[in-house]
Amino acid sequence: MPLNASVRTLKGVGEKRAALYEKMGIRTVVDLLGHYPRGYEDWSHPVPLSQVTPGEPCCVRGWVASTPTEHRVRKGMTLYKFRVTDGYQTLQVTLFNNPYAAAKIRRDQEILLYGTVVSDGRRAEMTSPQIETAAGARIRPIYPRTEGLTGKMIETNVAQALDLARRVGLPEILPEETVRREGLCDRLTAIESIHFPADGQAVEEARRRLVFEELFVLQLGLLRLKSRSRQQSGAVIAADRTAEYVAGLPFALTGAQRRAIADCVADLQGHRPMSRLVQGDVGSGKTAVAAGVAYSLIRGGWQAAMMAPTEILAEQHAATLQKLLGDRVRVGLLTGSLPAARRRALQQAIAAGEIDLVVGTHALISESVQFARLGLVITDEQHRFGVAQQARLASKGHNPHLLVMSATPIPRTLALILYGDLDVSVLDELPPGRQPVETYAVGGDKRERAYGYVRKHLDQGRQGFIVCPLVEESEEAGDLRSATEVFRQLQEGPFRGYRLGLLHGRMKAAEKEKTMAAFAAGEIQLLVSTTVIEVGVDVPNAVIMVVENADRFGLAQLHQLRGRVGRGQHRSTCILISDNRGEDTRRRLSVMCATNDGFKIADEDLKLRGPGDFFGNRQHGLPQLKVADLLDDMPLLQRAQSSAAALLGADPDLGGHPLLRQAVERLFAQVGEQGLN
Ligand code: ADP
Ligand code: MG
Repeated sequence: MPLNASVRTLKGVGEKRAALYEKMGIRTVVDLLGHYPRGYEDWSHPVPLSQVTPGEPCCVRGWVASTPTEHRVRKGMTLYKFRVTDGYQTLQVTLFNNPYAAAKIRRDQEILLYGTVVSDGRRAEMTSPQIETAAGARIRPIYPRTEGLTGKMIETNVAQALDLARRVGLPEILPEETVRREGLCDRLTAIESIHFPADGQAVEEARRRLVFEELFVLQLGLLRLKSRSRQQSGAVIAADRTAEYVAGLPFALTGAQRRAIADCVADLQGHRPMSRLVQGDVGSGKTAVAAGVAYSLIRGGWQAAMMAPTEILAEQHAATLQKLLGDRVRVGLLTGSLPAARRRALQQAIAAGEIDLVVGTHALISESVQFARLGLVITDEQHRFGVAQQARLASKGHNPHLLVMSATPIPRTLALILYGDLDVSVLDELPPGRQPVETYAVGGDKRERAYGYVRKHLDQGRQGFIVCPLVEESEEAGDLRSATEVFRQLQEGPFRGYRLGLLHGRMKAAEKEKTMAAFAAGEIQLLVSTTVIEVGVDVPNAVIMVVENADRFGLAQLHQLRGRVGRGQHRSTCILISDNRGEDTRRRLSVMCATNDGFKIADEDLKLRGPGDFFGNRQHGLPQLKVADLLDDMPLLQRAQSSAAALLGADPDLGGHPLLRQAVERLFAQVGEQGLN
C-alpha cells in the first residue's frame, strides 16, 4: 500500500529530511499522517491593525507600503525593515538575517503577518513575524518538530500525504456499527481536519473521533489481557501457610501487610486466577507481602516469578526474598549479565522445578526460559513495565496468578475503568518506628551549608545522594544543574577525598549496575545521579539527599526520590534546592516539607498541576496515548470500554478485524520498549 511507503516517496524529502523525520519516529507516509499538530495558529481571521492587542500573538493583514531596506548592524547581523499598511495605520516590520524572506516582499502586495505587535503608543512594530501570501488565511497547524525541520516543511509534506490518502483511500479501522452509533466522522475526514481544520468545530470533531479510536484500541488491548480472568486458574492451592511464613520473619508484619497477604492467599485458593494490585507507599513493605504470598503458593507445590526493572533491583530482591522466605524456598536470580554456562544451568533447574522463586529482569521473558509449574507472576513498580510484558511472562504458565506491586497512587475511579476487574489491596500503614524524612526547601545560596551537612553524615559512615535534573550541560537548559558537571565540581572541590559515584541514564547498563552495586556495598559514599535512582533502590545506610533544581520535578517524583532515604534506623534528611521563588514553587515544595504521605502528595500534585502532567509521565504503565487524556476524556473512555467489550464478545481474537488487531499490537508493542530514563 502506497501509504506504507517511506516518506522519501514524497516530493522534497531526500535523505537528509528523511533522517530528521526518522528522529521523530516518522518513517512512512502513514506515520506522517499520524504526526498530529500540538496546537494551531489562527490565520483565518486576520485583524485590522487598529484592533491589535499589543503583546499577544496575532495575525494581521496589510499591504506592503515600502520594500525592505537592508541595515547591516554588525558582522553577521543584517536587518531588513519594511512597512505594511492597512490603509489607516502603518506597521513597521523587522526581519533578522533573512534575505530570502525579504527578497520575496513586493510593494503593494497583500500579505499576512503572524507575530506579536509591540507598540510605544506612536509606532507599532513587529519583529521576525511569519509571512504568508493572502491565500494563507486559514487555521494553521503547529507541529512538534526537531532541529532542521521547519513547520512549513512538515505542513507541505503532510498536505502531500493527505493528497495521496485521498487518492488511494484510508481504510476504516473501527467497526462500521461503532462509527455510526457513536456519531463519529470517518477516518480520512478526521485526519484531514486535525491537520488542516476549517474551524474550531472541525478540530473538535476530529479530535473526538481520534480520541475514541485511541481509547477503543487501548480498551481492546486491556480487555484482551484481562480476558484470562474468566478462565480457570491453573494453580489452586489448598492451604494458607502464612503462619509458617510469619514465624520465620525477623519482624512482625503490620496490620496492612497481614490483610494484603490474606486477600491474596484467599485469591490463590479460589478457582479464578488472581489479578491483584498491592498499592503501598514507598517503604510500606511491599516486598514482605510478595514474599508472604509466594510462600503459600510455593509450599503448595508451585513456582513463582518476580520481574524487576533493573539488574540491581533484581539482585536486591533475590537476596531480600531469600532472607524472608528461609531455606525451605529455593530462590534463583536470572539476569542478562549471567555468564552463559550459569544461565543454562539455572534455566535447566527452573525447567526441572528445582527453583521455587525466580527473580529476574527482562531476561525472564526470553523464550528460552521455561517453567515446570509457574503459578504466580509478581511485578514490582508496575509503572516501569508494560502490561504486555507481564502478560508475556504469564504465558509461561497455565493461567498463573498475577500480583502487581506499585507505589503510584492512581485515583480509584480511573483504576476501575482501566483495570476493571483488577482487585486492589492498599498498604495504608508503615512499619513501626519509621521516622519521617525531614525535608527542607532552601535557595542555592545555602548550597555550601548543605554540602557541609552532607560531609558530616559521610564522616559518620553514612551515605547520600545528590540528584540533578540533567545528565549533561546543554545550551537551552539555562541554569539547570547536570549530574556530570556537578559530579566533576564536587569531586574537585567540596568533596575532594570522598568516594563519589556518578549515575545517569546514558551510561551503559553494565556501568550503571556496577556503580549501583558499589553504592549498595558502601564503596561509594556519595552518589551524584539523575532520576534513575527513583525506582526501588534500597540502601538503608543512605540518609541524606540533596535535590538540585527541585522545582523541576513533579511532587510524585520528588516523593519517589526521597523514598531512597529514610529506609533504615537512622534519621534521614532531604534538602530541596531551588532558586525559583515563585509562589507556585513555594507551595509545591512546602507540601514536600509538610508531609511524607505519598497519597496526600499525589492528591496535592493533582490539585496543583492538573491531571495532564500527573499522567503525562507514563506513571500508569499504560501505552503512551497521542491524543487522549485519560482524565479529561473519561466519558469517552467509558464508552470506548463498553464498545470494545461488545466487539470482543462477538470476535474474541479480532480475527474478523485484522486492522484493529494490528493497531492493538502496535499500541502495546511500544510499552515493551520503555526503559529507564
Ligand atoms: P517498599 O514498599 O517500598 O517496596 P520494602 O519492601 O523495600 O518497601 O520495605 C522497606 C523496608 O522495610 C525494608 O528494609 C524491609 O525489610 C522493612 N520492613 C518491611 N516490613 C516491615 C515490618 N513489618 N516491620 C519492620 N520492617 C519492615
Ligand atoms: Mg519496593
